[in-house]
Amino acid sequence: MTERNYQKRSRKKRQNSSVARTAIAAVLLLAVAVFIFLFVKREEKDFIQAESITAESVQIAESSAIEIPEIEETTADELSKETITGEITVEETAPLDLGIETEKMYVVADKVNVRSEPSKEATKVGELACNSEVGAIEKGGEWTSILYNNQICYVKSEYLTGDKDWKEHLASSSGYKDGESVTLEPTWKYADYSAIYSGSATMHLAKGNRKNITIGVNAGHGTEGGSSVKTWCHPDKTPKVTGGTTAAGAEKAMAVSGGMTFSDGTLERTVTLKEAMILKELLLENGFDVLMIREDKDVQLDNVARTVICNNAADCHIAIHWDGDSLDYDKGCFYMSVPDAMKGMEPVASTWQESEALGDSLIAGLKEAGCKIFSNGAMDMDLTQTSYSTIPSVDIELGNQSSDHSEEKLYQLAQGLAEGIEQYFGK
Ligand SMILES: [Zn+2]
Repeated sequence: MTERNYQKRSRKKRQNSSVARTAIAAVLLLAVAVFIFLFVKREEKDFIQAESITAESVQIAESSAIEIPEIEETTADELSKETITGEITVEETAPLDLGIETEKMYVVADKVNVRSEPSKEATKVGELACNSEVGAIEKGGEWTSILYNNQICYVKSEYLTGDKDWKEHLASSSGYKDGESVTLEPTWKYADYSAIYSGSATMHLAKGNRKNITIGVNAGHGTEGGSSVKTWCHPDKTPKVTGGTTAAGAEKAMAVSGGMTFSDGTLERTVTLKEAMILKELLLENGFDVLMIREDKDVQLDNVARTVICNNAADCHIAIHWDGDSLDYDKGCFYMSVPDAMKGMEPVASTWQESEALGDSLIAGLKEAGCKIFSNGAMDMDLTQTSYSTIPSVDIELGNQSSDHSEEKLYQLAQGLAEGIEQYFGK
């Protein structure tokens, strides 16, 4: 190789390496450019994603924002509970939308009217069954306002109680439950004077407007076999001081007589039972508890047992009768007042004044109801009932065998008796 050729070749070699460097630099530059481009692209993509998520979030937030106020409007405690537990029905919580605070109360009568205004004359908007739960707004007074189908309505206050277990807590003044049988307790005073005592009386308790006073209602007669057994007329075994079914001077009398027969053939015991059943309903409505001695054709309780049961489970004793005097016209009503000869004998000595006061009230009530009254409304009679009574006790004769005993008449008489009872205990 010549020097020239060598130089030429060298120059060419130098030229070649310069081109290669330029190419490498270009490739590197391109790589950096691509990298930057991709990086920027990726950043853009992320940004777009981020943006789209944010948009979604906004959308979600917006839709929650629509729902939230709905929840907030009804965030009363009760509704929150409903949302969580789902136990409270819409109907129950609906009243809360009105923003009215209510108190749970319970219906204590068989059927109670719901009225649009606090008045008996107001429109009846519904009925509530016994033990229904209501939301009371304002209690007290004659009427209580309640929420009923989202409306403010009214119920008589006497038919509502705040005691959820009112049925279990209800008892007569003597401690008997509603519908409980009352039998003759051997430990009761004079119980051992009774000859027929296998039967039982029944306690009925007033549901509303309770007075906590028990009326012993004794439908006269109706004890099979009662006329063939005898009991002492007086607890001290002294003889009877007046006549009657058993003559004066007798020491013992029929445990329960059969009663008389009306001139149309109806038995007295049938009519006394009808009358007692009507009176029972009226008294319960008026808030009295009622001890029913007999509610069927027959009860195996003699006059001593009936009296001793009333002494211990009632606050007064009213025996219902019609007189068997053989008159062919309606004599009218009267009660058996206490003969003077009995007034010194216990327990009569301690009770006769109250018994006669009760008798006078019954006659006043009957008079007010438009019933016919015999004479001054009283006739002295020595009765087993009077002799063993330790509470105010009356045998009321609502007429005789010639008296009208239609349903209508019996209702009128019951109204008179109920009025008299009201007067006696209201004094
Ligand atoms: Zn009678």
